[in-house]
Amino acid sequence: MIRTRQLQYAYPGGSALTFPDVDVPQGAVLLLSGPSGCGKSTWLALVAALVAPTAGELTVAEQPLSALKNIAADAWRAGAIGFLPQKLHLSAALTVQQNLGLVFWAGGQPEDAERIHATLQALGVDDLAQRKPSQLSGGQAQRVALARAVLRRPLVILADEPTASLDDEAAGDAVNLLLSTARQLDATLVIATHDARVAACIDLRNRGQIGLQPLRIVRKQLSKQEQAEPDLQAHLHVAHYPAQQLQGSAP
Ligand code: ADP
Ligand code: MG
Repeated sequence: MIRTRQLQYAYPGGSALTFPDVDVPQGAVLLLSGPSGCGKSTWLALVAALVAPTAGELTVAEQPLSALKNIAADAWRAGAIGFLPQKLHLSAALTVQQNLGLVFWAGGQPEDAERIHATLQALGVDDLAQRKPSQLSGGQAQRVALARAVLRRPLVILADEPTASLDDEAAGDAVNLLLSTARQLDATLVIATHDARVAACIDLRNRGQIGLQPLRIVRKQLSKQEQAEPDLQAHLHVAHYPAQQLQGSAP
């Protein structure tokens, strides 16, 4: 679950980004869409406790983040959050298996080879375990990065522009994989994107297969000053998919 209230963040020297409140139940999907620069990646960083809000409060996976300080935030994030960053950050010198092994190393845990194998298998890339990242296609690299993100069975999966460098077919696969993975883990899923194909892809499932309701879009109310200055019209569209709407859908 993710709950935010009057969240704001200002980069040093920048004006404050303000975010609409959200209440995302455990297991539900949140599509964060909006133009480049509106604050999607910043919002993900706030939810992952990578940065602290300038104002406002947020609770993620039952944890009020204001109560967490540096080291505690790192430990909490490692267990609760699966982050699929826009740049995948796979280590070029390591094999796929070794890249996943790093997750356990970073968490101070013994490497669980069986878990690595099972996770790669669930994402259809177990035959790539001994390859280096340079030997993977864009879609394969992203599956590996998703495997790494969900290795510790996070309660929340955050995906930043997961379709940015993918062709139409791979983009559709990536979104479906995120949805099915989140459902298997009963994880809350956030997809941040300015790619219209993502909404279209989820919409298609909606109409064709599983009866998802139409997107409910909430826009930030623009202040008078912002209305007068179109350049400042950074806004965030937020749409919720209640968990029950995703149940029973095909992977
Ligand atoms: P999005 O992911 O929607 O494209 P971001 O969250 O990356 O948006 O950025 C929101 C705003 O914050 C943009 O105006 C961007 O220029 C600014 N910004 C992002 N990162 C930094 C930073 N490290 N320092 C200063 N400003 C930043
Ligand atoms: Mg971004």
